Amino acid sequence: MANFKTDVVIVGAGAVGGIMAAELGKAGIKVLALERGPRLQTKDFNPHDELRYFTRQDLRPNTKLHPVTWRPNANTRATRMASLNNGAQAGGGTVHYGAVSWRFHEDDFRVRSSTIERYGEKAIPEDSSVADWPLSYADLEPWYDKAEHELGVSGKAGNLNGKKIEGGNVFEAPRKRDYPLPPLMVDQSGLVFEEGAKKLGYHPFSTPRAILSQPYHDRPGCTYCGFCQAFGCHVGAKSSILVTKLPEADATKNFTLITGATCHRVNTDASGKATGVNFYGPDGSDNTVEADLVILAPFIYDNVRLLLLSKTDKFPNGLANSSGQVGKHVMAHIGTRAISIFDDRHINIFMGPSAQRHCIDDFNADNFDHKDLGFIRGAQINVSPADLEAGPIGTAMSMSPPPGTPRWGAAYRDFFSKYFTRYAGINAQTENLPYADQTIDLDPNIKDMYGLPAPRVTYDWRRPNERARIEFLGKKLEEIGRAMGASKVWRPPTNQGQPGAHHQGGTRMGADPKTSVVNKYSQSWDIPNLFIMGSSTHPTMSGYNPTLTIEAIAYMTADAIVNRYVKNPGLLA
Ligand SMILES: Cc1cc2nc3c(=O)[nH]c(=O)nc-3n(C[C@H](O)[C@H](O)[C@H](O)COP(=O)(O)OP(=O)(O)OC[C@H]3O[C@@H](n4cnc5c(N)ncnc54)[C@H](O)[C@@H]3O)c2cc1C
Repeated sequence: MANFKTDVVIVGAGAVGGIMAAELGKAGIKVLALERGPRLQTKDFNPHDELRYFTRQDLRPNTKLHPVTWRPNANTRATRMASLNNGAQAGGGTVHYGAVSWRFHEDDFRVRSSTIERYGEKAIPEDSSVADWPLSYADLEPWYDKAEHELGVSGKAGNLNGKKIEGGNVFEAPRKRDYPLPPLMVDQSGLVFEEGAKKLGYHPFSTPRAILSQPYHDRPGCTYCGFCQAFGCHVGAKSSILVTKLPEADATKNFTLITGATCHRVNTDASGKATGVNFYGPDGSDNTVEADLVILAPFIYDNVRLLLLSKTDKFPNGLANSSGQVGKHVMAHIGTRAISIFDDRHINIFMGPSAQRHCIDDFNADNFDHKDLGFIRGAQINVSPADLEAGPIGTAMSMSPPPGTPRWGAAYRDFFSKYFTRYAGINAQTENLPYADQTIDLDPNIKDMYGLPAPRVTYDWRRPNERARIEFLGKKLEEIGRAMGASKVWRPPTNQGQPGAHHQGGTRMGADPKTSVVNKYSQSWDIPNLFIMGSSTHPTMSGYNPTLTIEAIAYMTADAIVNRYVKNPGLLA
């Protein structure tokens, strides 16, 4: 057992942890970060090891050692989720992610009030727990800008200071300046998607991605190799935290990273102040870190689990849980897609950066009139491979064949060999409203490698609002596929209620300590020297992927700690 002392301890060295480490370290604050996985390097991703990264998903958590379980409702026994939604090494999810990098819309931050203003109170589904964020898009705009420029994001502005620009996303919130890098090159799928979407009067554009379209900050541009999602970039063109913020943190000389270190408890004193954490080292030893400030950044499952595992007499329902909100309001993207096949052209969808190549925002957020539709909110619609994470062959095989074509034998072989190079998936990445009974708690049956209860997710997206939205969007996807000139378009069945991508909620932020866990700086209302960070704090989600927002909030919080909290510790106003 070892004892460490530091100014700040950070649990998890992913998107949030890396930004916090670099920004606090630059201000002269001593930072110690605990990361349960290893610290890999760009050279580890060369040569491309498909078995290791695509098939075995080595950059995702090992679900035998670090299980997270799922059940659709409180009357069912939970089982292990097959793959998890976070990272498992230094750099976290940003090492293997698709790098799609969005700023949320203005109304994403005020879903409750903007819905009531436009459609009336009755439009909010009664069983949902939709709430406004305690911060606005305008509050975050400078931090989005900093994240895009420091990390390196490629895209084209669609709204510069209120001026709409064709070819960019005309639905985006106003930005003060353009992206630092031009959009990535358009592939075949992007070209046909653009043509089809335009025919229907929609507004297609190249999805902004944290992948360098040109050399930037001493890193080379993308090689369009196709080994992107599920994989670390073999040239370092993906702007992961591994190649951006962790080297910056190292350079401050105030940063220590301990890998193979799994935090299992947040320690507090009798007054309720956080005093540090305990972690299991690679040799199984139990070690203590004493710190003035504790930052939890291990993603939503362990944010909640660590609070519940660390309960005390003062906090009998879990640390930082006076509001009773810890573990509630869990959300995930709901996926629906249409597969399009083409007899007159090759698409070669497996080439180039995989995720969400081209997209439209016409049916996202409140960008379209929902009056009389029977649901609120929408989806970002994009063109992508059928499965981003299975490698070129697996990707195509995960495309369910059209109705009438079996998934075995000669007919399947002929279908597959003809359309392997001639298909595109059109996806609606759909927002999920928060519901208080979508939760994370401690699984009484399944334990992790240390014998601690696994985080258990209770969740089922199949509610009336979400079902109606999925049906509406599915028809739009088919319409786009036909306009793209596909010879056949069909919709594979949706899943049985499981959470999709981009899990959020569990320690929601708010303006009122009675109804939220943290304030807008992700600072615990109960324990001001404890920050609980990342997408667990999101009160609502968006049709957009969350990481740029997670990163922008991390920059904002780091600034508040350095310039205000350190001088005057206490709750930040
Ligand atoms: C396959 C996939 C593709 C994705 N693509 C996109 C995309 O294109 N765009 C987008 O915006 N988002 C994407 N995401 C989501 C993105 O990866 C996450 O939003 C982001 O990484 C979350 O940042 P974080 O810092 O909260 O958590 P992470 O980046 O997951 O970092 C948390 C770190 O904490 C460590 N950790 C966990 N528990 C402990 C513990 N108890 N002790 C010590 N360390 C611990 C983990 O090993 C991990 O490294 C994708 C996610 C997946 C899974």
